[in-house]
Amino acid sequence: MRLFLLKLGFCFLLTQPTHAQSVPPISSTHSLMNRSICSASLQTDKTLTVKDFGKLVSLDKPISIFNPHDRQMYHVELLGYVAPSEDSSLRFRIYAPERSDAELAEKVGLFYLLLYHEIHKHLHLDHPAQQPISVWLSPTNYTNADVGGEQFRDQIYIYNIYAKRSSIEWCRELAHEYGHYILPGVTGYTAPEPWANGVLGERLFLYWLSHDVTDGTIPASSLPFCTPADLEAYLNLQIFPLISRIALAQRFSSSWLSRQDAVGMDNYTAICLYIDDIYGSHTLLEAMAFTEPSSNSPLVTAPDFLNGFYKAMQNLSSITLSIPLIPHPLHRLLLYLPSGLWHIPSNIAWQVVNDKLVIKNHTLFVPQSGWYAIHFTTLPSLITLTRTLPSR
Ligand SMILES: [Zn+2]
Repeated sequence: MRLFLLKLGFCFLLTQPTHAQSVPPISSTHSLMNRSICSASLQTDKTLTVKDFGKLVSLDKPISIFNPHDRQMYHVELLGYVAPSEDSSLRFRIYAPERSDAELAEKVGLFYLLLYHEIHKHLHLDHPAQQPISVWLSPTNYTNADVGGEQFRDQIYIYNIYAKRSSIEWCRELAHEYGHYILPGVTGYTAPEPWANGVLGERLFLYWLSHDVTDGTIPASSLPFCTPADLEAYLNLQIFPLISRIALAQRFSSSWLSRQDAVGMDNYTAICLYIDDIYGSHTLLEAMAFTEPSSNSPLVTAPDFLNGFYKAMQNLSSITLSIPLIPHPLHRLLLYLPSGLWHIPSNIAWQVVNDKLVIKNHTLFVPQSGWYAIHFTTLPSLITLTRTLPSR
């Protein structure tokens, strides 16, 4: 375990715990060893400090908790405090069966601190009432079902922990269950499962994580389970094809999102990734915020989310588009453009495929809000469109 943390560039500070009173009394054997992520070794590479990330605190004595849900005994508990670490920043309790599983618990705790960091940064989401969730690393093996994990309320179970899992499969499974917990739920699917926020969590969180590892915000040495190469392979297999599905389409069809099968869930995941990548996480957050169920259902569906996106795009005076980093040449892009007279940068050559759009003197006239395929002869990484809105 210690070897593992050293490998991550962390060090342990053996101090008296100042947080012990704040820990809810699940076990009477809490306390004594406070392991902080040591910022000293990280300050030199200027990529990540403890302040940006959090800390893991383990207990020096074995605990004994019986969990009636999976009927297992747990003897290890690890507390995950998000940055800035203080008593109120406890967000994760990680439980493992045996002391020999402590290293796995640390990797899981570290991975969840990273995911929290990403979600907080991109969508400003926190746990309801800022409460910790419990993550149970369960040896239970559901042999008659393909159950890797499950989430209900503030409890996450990762099953069959002694089975062989690839590094990226660990990341995917942990991200999936956390997505169910923390992302808004879009539902109504017949396959692969009713709720889409688990699959969306996998894709979004690992995409953001990969970005931060690539640009050095998170040191590659801090990654538990997977390597940057694992994440890159995942992006090529699971992320870029979904973004391309929308960005490179000839035209948009709202029927993509009304499908309730596995393809429909993929399409919903694709539109979320597309919005996040091209319009920015702030737009994805606004689209989620504007999403409300249609009048005949209490539950939110993917078409409701699409309407939320359209509402979020209304009344904007500027839109900044990031060109997706799809790993092949890109000269055409399907864009959703709100109606109006948009100023476009002079250094960008646009060719509109749709004759309803008019470009003249660096001004783009969009008569009706909608999806338009745009051809570019030169493509910058960012395009900012601005318009003057009529004063009210
Ligand atoms: Zn799920």
